Amino acid sequence: MTVKSLEKQYIINTYNRQPEATLLLKRGEGVYVWDESGNRYLDFVSGLAVNNLGHCHPAVVEAINCQAQKLMHTSNLYYTEPQVRLAEALVTHSSANKVFFCNSGAEANEAAIKLARKFGKQNRGEGAYEIITAERSFHGRTLAAVTATGQPKYHQGFEPMVSGFRYGKFNDLKSFETLINENTCAILVEPVQGEGGIYPATQEFLAGLRKLCDEHKLLLMFDEVQCGVGRTGKFLACEHYGVEPDVYTLAKALGGGLPIGAMGARGNAADVLVPGDHASTFGGNPVTCAAANAVLQAILADQFLPRVEQLGHYFTEKLRELDYPGIVEVRGLGLMIGLEINGDGAAVAKACQEKGLLINCIGGKILRFIPPLVVDEEQIDAAVTVVQQALSALN
Ligand SMILES: *Cc1c(COP(=O)(O)O)cnc(C)c1O
Repeated sequence: MTVKSLEKQYIINTYNRQPEATLLLKRGEGVYVWDESGNRYLDFVSGLAVNNLGHCHPAVVEAINCQAQKLMHTSNLYYTEPQVRLAEALVTHSSANKVFFCNSGAEANEAAIKLARKFGKQNRGEGAYEIITAERSFHGRTLAAVTATGQPKYHQGFEPMVSGFRYGKFNDLKSFETLINENTCAILVEPVQGEGGIYPATQEFLAGLRKLCDEHKLLLMFDEVQCGVGRTGKFLACEHYGVEPDVYTLAKALGGGLPIGAMGARGNAADVLVPGDHASTFGGNPVTCAAANAVLQAILADQFLPRVEQLGHYFTEKLRELDYPGIVEVRGLGLMIGLEINGDGAAVAKACQEKGLLINCIGGKILRFIPPLVVDEEQIDAAVTVVQQALSALN
């Protein structure tokens, strides 16, 4: 049996894999992956904004190897050093005072939602458990995280949803303000919306949310799962805005390819959860934390993030120079870029794959570019050339 037929027989069918079109990948190195036939692809999907240092970064591989030989798992009944070192690094490089570890983005948001509910009860009253999130947002697939996700298509078939979520219009401060009442405990948004189509927040919106939260004693929570860990050219995307959240969540790129999630909390928010309130068997696992420590060391090294910002400008300019009449908009922040077209985005992504470039299409019309942050100008040029060919072939 081949891998593809085994997949069809044994894996629950939740991913829209098409046997002819879906690659079977065997190996990765830096910005490249290789399929079963040895074809090489320039990978501008990066495992969905996970492989920010590229595939199999030597420092991450070394950290994993080294830790795996010493101690792989202990549970949180015991202390381990990689976990506290990672927490220390996150606190040093963000507004958080303390951190909670889990295993994914959805889980990090679940932790934030629980924290916000408890904060609401303690500070605003028994009924204060409503969280305002944004339309077009994405916060994960567990029941509370998917309810927080402001896209009806992800709710369909799973009703009743978790109670206590309301949805404002992203970048429309007024629409959030009108949803605040005595039952509200927090506002949760992505500083740059990812799965919803790559929409950066405006300065006015994020700063305005901070002000609203301060005035009404609400928690401001940022989901940095996709836009964090250097993706936009700052460690956290909110740094571009100079707006500090009370709570933020990370996952995706944090573990360099291993599954990890984290929630950072500052001030009073850091003391809301107490022993027995929340837990994760694997949370803060020494191997994933060792990998994450190696990731942070590389991303926070001198000149790494300014280079990402510079590459983001370079890439955005190149995409703006594309010759195709159906371009609606090029938008993004750093190396998180969306190209919206009036045309069949899925066909463009497929044509790019055939020419050796992996990109991903969201919502049928938005091409998402989330390359490894270690990409260079030549590789960006090569990608843009392929995208141009694919767009030209549409007409
Ligand atoms: C991917 C993503 C999540 C969910 O992360 P998982 O690890 O898949 O649970 C949550 N929020 C945002 C912004 C994401 O991009």
